[in-house]
Amino acid sequence: MTEPSIFTRILNGEIPGDFVARTERVFAIRDINPQAPVHVLIIPVTEQYRDVTELAAGDPGLMAEMVAMAKEIAAEHSNGEYRLIFNNGPSAGQSVFHVHAHVLADIEEGKLVGF
Ligand code: AMP
Repeated sequence: MTEPSIFTRILNGEIPGDFVARTERVFAIRDINPQAPVHVLIIPVTEQYRDVTELAAGDPGLMAEMVAMAKEIAAEHSNGEYRLIFNNGPSAGQSVFHVHAHVLADIEEGKLVGF
């Protein structure tokens, strides 16, 4: 059996996480290394999908739930506008292979490039 991902370990309370939202199938935590004033990770409870390509093919409804949570977080913590980023593969910046979306909001003008 493979080791649980770092996000599953946070969900299980084994390592601390700053939770901002939770539903039956999706949860959200603040990124430990924020790239914008609001930088939240949206994560499905299941770790069966390693990236958004697998998720979109396997459970598009779950992907829609993640987007709905992103919108709510951006509305609650910023002005409702946000970037939604999925890194896919190590060379594209993915380091955790339990699919997750980065929600970035409150972004300073001119700071869009580079993440
Ligand atoms: P990615 O590089 O797209 O796979 O994103 C993984 C993200 O997880 C990075 O932005 C990390 O900063 C973030 N991260 C890693 N460990 C933790 C943690 N313990 N709590 C919150 N975020 C984390």
